[in-house]
Amino acid sequence: MLETLVLQPTPFCNIACTYCYLPSRDDRRTMSPQTLDASFTRVFESGWAAPHLTVIWHAGEPLVLPVAWYENAFAIVERLRPPELRVRHSIQTNGMLLTEAWCAFLRRHDVGIGVSLDGPRALHDAHRVARNGAGTFDRTMAGIRLLQAHEVPFHVITVLSRDSLDDPEGLVAFYLREGIDQVCFNVEESEGDHVSGLFGAPDLRQRFTRFLDRFWRCARESGRFRYIREIDGMLPRILRPEEATLRNEQVVPFGMLTIGCTGDVATFSPELLGLRNATYGDFVIGNVHTHSLAEMQEGAVLQAMARDIGAGVALCHEECAYFSVCGGGAPVNKLTENGRFASTRTRFCELTQMVPTDLILDAVERMERADLPAAAGVG
Ligand code: SF4
Repeated sequence: MLETLVLQPTPFCNIACTYCYLPSRDDRRTMSPQTLDASFTRVFESGWAAPHLTVIWHAGEPLVLPVAWYENAFAIVERLRPPELRVRHSIQTNGMLLTEAWCAFLRRHDVGIGVSLDGPRALHDAHRVARNGAGTFDRTMAGIRLLQAHEVPFHVITVLSRDSLDDPEGLVAFYLREGIDQVCFNVEESEGDHVSGLFGAPDLRQRFTRFLDRFWRCARESGRFRYIREIDGMLPRILRPEEATLRNEQVVPFGMLTIGCTGDVATFSPELLGLRNATYGDFVIGNVHTHSLAEMQEGAVLQAMARDIGAGVALCHEECAYFSVCGGGAPVNKLTENGRFASTRTRFCELTQMVPTDLILDAVERMERADLPAAAGVG
């Protein structure tokens, strides 16, 4: 079942972060109304969309397109949407182009917003720079203040660098000062052409464990954080009833679908669209203008990826103690880190699955030792 649809309205991005892996960030093409129409027609006619479908507008900077473009896009979705199916839109942005008009639009359509913000000015401006090399902190914060003034709920995604990893207290203090209470962390990765020095560091797992442990404790003490993805996203997976199955949409064909601005389609990890590989080419399984999803399912590239990703999941099932909360990881990271889908452990899964699980289980154990009710205050 298709739960998440990622759409790339344009590959173009207005800035040039030093860790960006997107190969087409100078490409100014935009998705046409015909491609939008064909995309949602293909998805809805397939009958594979979940009753609550999340549509994420991502890749490049989505807000380089005007509000009117999204008004039209959302109207197309509404026109084609089967009545029993709910769609929730969500946008990942650098926040620099937010305006009053954007805030009104976001509120009107109840759009979920993620803003990329790497922390205080020095941390943020070290990597998140404009094309002339100048830092983007002031404009991103201006966007965040607009969201706050218009009471548009949002979370931030912070890419952790060497410096921020060593200062969780500083990050907590910064978010509290700025009224930010929903946070997600990514550690700077190697992806596409970008090679991260930090990701290969031998002590990264220990450092990230220290970081997340301290951040979580300080955030709890403050009592003012509503959501830390690494903890609050993992808790329901760890504490779920035994009979509840875990679904990893990245390892299921058509669990996630990514559609580029010309209508090219990829599935599994969204980051695959835009990469190239000797075995799977450009990972494109079809185009919405020429193929139905059912036809894409029969294609050779999809079949090869499904076979190899499935083999990787089977290996994970056999070998990994974290399988019950992870479900076999992120195929793109297996491919970029291990060179093949049919593999198991990655640095990415250590950081996103193993470290949070260990910290939560430690906290549960401490509570049990203290004889506190398990439901009280894990977060
Ligand atoms: S944590 Fe890593 S090795 Fe374990 S199941 Fe997930 S992807 Fe596989």
